[in-house]
Amino acid sequence: MSQLLSWNRLPQCSPDKIYTLTEYAIPGLAHAPHPLLAYGNGRSYGDVCLNDRGTLLHTCALDRFISFDRTSGVLRCESGVTLQSILQLVVPHGWFLASTPGTQYATIGGALANDVHGKNHHAHGSFGNHVRAFELIRSTGEVLLCRPDQNAEMFRATIAGLGLTGLLSWVEIQLMPVNNPWMWVEAQRFSNLEHFWQLNKEAEQHWPYTVAWIDCLASGNAQGRGILFTGKHAANQTHLPSYKARSKRVPFDPPISLVNRLSLRSFNALYYRQPVKPQGSLCHYAPYFYPLDAIQDWNRIYGHKGFYQYQCVLPPEVASEATAQLLDAIAQSGQGSFLAVLKTFGSQESVGMLSFARPGTTLALDFPNLGNKTLQLFHRLDAIVSEAGGALYPAKDARMPASLFQSGFPNWERFSDFIDPAFSSHFWRRVTL
Ligand SMILES: Cc1cc2nc3c(=O)[nH]c(=O)nc-3n(C[C@H](O)[C@H](O)[C@H](O)COP(=O)(O)OP(=O)(O)OC[C@H]3O[C@@H](n4cnc5c(N)ncnc54)[C@H](O)[C@@H]3O)c2cc1C
Repeated sequence: MSQLLSWNRLPQCSPDKIYTLTEYAIPGLAHAPHPLLAYGNGRSYGDVCLNDRGTLLHTCALDRFISFDRTSGVLRCESGVTLQSILQLVVPHGWFLASTPGTQYATIGGALANDVHGKNHHAHGSFGNHVRAFELIRSTGEVLLCRPDQNAEMFRATIAGLGLTGLLSWVEIQLMPVNNPWMWVEAQRFSNLEHFWQLNKEAEQHWPYTVAWIDCLASGNAQGRGILFTGKHAANQTHLPSYKARSKRVPFDPPISLVNRLSLRSFNALYYRQPVKPQGSLCHYAPYFYPLDAIQDWNRIYGHKGFYQYQCVLPPEVASEATAQLLDAIAQSGQGSFLAVLKTFGSQESVGMLSFARPGTTLALDFPNLGNKTLQLFHRLDAIVSEAGGALYPAKDARMPASLFQSGFPNWERFSDFIDPAFSSHFWRRVTL
């Protein structure tokens, strides 16, 4: 049977059966090995989309558009439609996703089930804030139309519901108007964490999109140095550059990870010193929102052992101190990340009972899997996150202890009442049993 993995290739789990869904029904229910779980495009880092010894319901063929109102920007499509397909349809008509993660290869079903967030969280909230309705198929055969005012509790349980409340057949979202496919972006270097907090606070007043890359290996006075990227959709203008998408591919799995102490130090130092354009420039939406998508299969650079992403959120009142503690622990360990991202979430309340996005600061880093060494570092990071009253992001997790999940998501027991009894995931069994 072909393997369906998650993006970081960890943990390794094999379902007994994979069904490729072509219609809105859960097929062969009586005979399929239980439990069941929907699988979108496997862009999660970890096991929210994995189901060892159960059945995966692959939604890749549920890829049809149902309706698109070009006047109001309301779009309805099947749950396996990717964000890339949505953008290809709607951008030429002056619409854009109101919230998008850093990959356009996620499906709309996966985006809803993790209630994903983007660089504009402080201005527009997360994906679930723009969901108008969806249809949910339960293993009993029941079909539920869910809206904020119809089956409202199931609506709140399914957004960020980690695929556990049933199978989404279609989703309806509200898009956001834009003038053209271009972004106006600016970048500013900051010399340490203190400097970041100042710049970021100011930037959030004026820019709908803000995100910072940080050099997680820098220490002392340079701890947390990095580059703050700010952006907004470009104004209506007649002269726009032309854009041609270019894509490269990592052709094979190297025998060992290409990400190591030496390559990390050099990359981070060079990246920090890259020329930045504080005066601003135009950038097409694809390289702006989805820079990593330009390298197909980039996850292969970590070799067959895979990698972990560690993404936490820290409450606003302790974010500054706890971020510094996390960076201390990472720099001391000598393990680190090309892709260390720092971003503050705004105060818009997330819809989902288990939504990760909440007021505070989120830090996300990728780590090559060095076995126990990496797990020991995570143990230290977990203690800091837990002490700070923070949480880890289920969509990016392959190993958090049950206690950290349960303290970070205190609604988890209430949420359990909405789980479809035939559905489960490797993640859920790991953090609740
Ligand atoms: C390069 C990269 C950048 C990323 N950047 C961000 C980011 O900025 N912000 C962010 O929030 N996330 C980010 N992510 C994570 C990614 O957006 C989420 O994990 C997303 O949920 C993946 O969608 P998917 O379609 O691949 O779903 P999968 O990973 O296959 O599944 C995710 C969950 O959705 C459920 N699901 C999928 N389809 C259905 C359905 N039809 N019915 C019910 N449940 C369903 C699955 O059961 C599972 O629990 C990034 C990932 C990558 C690879």
